[in-house]
Amino acid sequence: MITLVRRAAALCALGAALAACGTTGTEQTPHSAPSAPAPSPSSSAMPTLAPGPAGLTPVFEHGPRTDGTKGGAREGKPVALTFDADMTADQGPRAAAGERFDNPRLIETLRRLKVPATVFMTGRWAEEYPDEARSIGRDPRFEIANHSYSHYAYTDDCYGLPTVSEGRMRADLERAYSAFEKAGVPNPMPYFRFPGGCYDEAALKELSATGVTAVQWDVVSGDAFATDADAVTRQVLDGVRPGSVVVMHCTRSAAPVTEEAVRAVVPELRRRGYRFVRVSELIGAANGRG
Ligand SMILES: [Zn+2]
Repeated sequence: MITLVRRAAALCALGAALAACGTTGTEQTPHSAPSAPAPSPSSSAMPTLAPGPAGLTPVFEHGPRTDGTKGGAREGKPVALTFDADMTADQGPRAAAGERFDNPRLIETLRRLKVPATVFMTGRWAEEYPDEARSIGRDPRFEIANHSYSHYAYTDDCYGLPTVSEGRMRADLERAYSAFEKAGVPNPMPYFRFPGGCYDEAALKELSATGVTAVQWDVVSGDAFATDADAVTRQVLDGVRPGSVVVMHCTRSAAPVTEEAVRAVVPELRRRGYRFVRVSELIGAANGRG
């Protein structure tokens, strides 16, 4: 009973964080300055935003609101689907008991529908599912970015999530990259998504030396703990604009209808003139290189 109550509380906290964070944050102005140094091998395939004021970690929320034409050619309005692979430090026993925090069918569907995507992975998830992490990381259709080691918040008061202790943020971020490396993920991206989407100036300052670009979103899919795929589909279709970043989840236990929603969202967005891109392409476009 105690376990059930605690589990329900944790799920609600995460659900609240995911549902409430889509409207926070400030409008990001695209930079034209050269990329900041990246923690992984830096190349034009890994564009980052220039640091913000006073060298703070830059925050990306969506790409340019382009109409999808380039040099007179119609190439499609870009939209990035992103999938958070959440797993917390204390969920190991639940995984051992059979709860599935992964979603292989979702990844299969993205491959079958030829949808490029960005997966924001926790280090803990990569430890639990190293074969899947490696397979996603080696697939050129996908890019893996950092979602912390174990989904602890980087601010106080983030919808009830436990917090990363002071002075440990960099170490937590780097621990996730170490977990990716151990799983055999090649070249993870220098992008970081704050657990719960919660950040403040202190967190942006603390991470500035890592060279990551923080990646938020402008469309909340509402897939966390949803049971109605149609509702998730509608919410995505209603929210997407050119350059949008959509946040969804790659974990069956906490987001059971995501794969079904993706099967509906993808053909409809294509019909509306959208093309799917990875976050790196939107960041490159924001830098004037896209
Ligand atoms: Zn998350």
